[in-house]
Amino acid sequence: MSLAGRTSAAHFALVTTSPLRSLLLGPRMQPKDTTTNEAFKGFTNTACPFLPCHTGVRGQFNCLFCYCPLIAYRCPGPYKVFTDRNGIRRKDCSDCTLPHNGYGGAWNFIQKWLERPVVWDGHEQTRRYQMKPPRTRS
Ligand code: SF4
Repeated sequence: MSLAGRTSAAHFALVTTSPLRSLLLGPRMQPKDTTTNEAFKGFTNTACPFLPCHTGVRGQFNCLFCYCPLIAYRCPGPYKVFTDRNGIRRKDCSDCTLPHNGYGGAWNFIQKWLERPVVWDGHEQTRRYQMKPPRTRS
């Protein structure tokens, strides 16, 4: 490969992996942005012996977020707080159906709340059933 070719390859690698990439080339496209197939947004594990693990779920029961990605973050779910045997305060999410309410609905809910995650500080729920994430300064 010629020096010019190597320079171009190095330049391409730098541009495509650099933090400046999004400034130079725009936001990186995700595979989900290039397909109309939305099967990745959820599924129902009909073989699970615990299904339905929550009652009152709206739409198709979404098992994709069985271990809720918001467990360590502030969320609008109706959780209760308990202290485990190690003295750590934890969420009891038994009454929450939000990560299970339909394929698209649960997917959109989780994505929205993960956009600007705020670490949960162990306090009781104060935003009960509110669907909008807290505003944070960026
Ligand atoms: S209350 Fe609901 S949304 Fe919040 S962490 Fe538990 S399961 Fe997730």
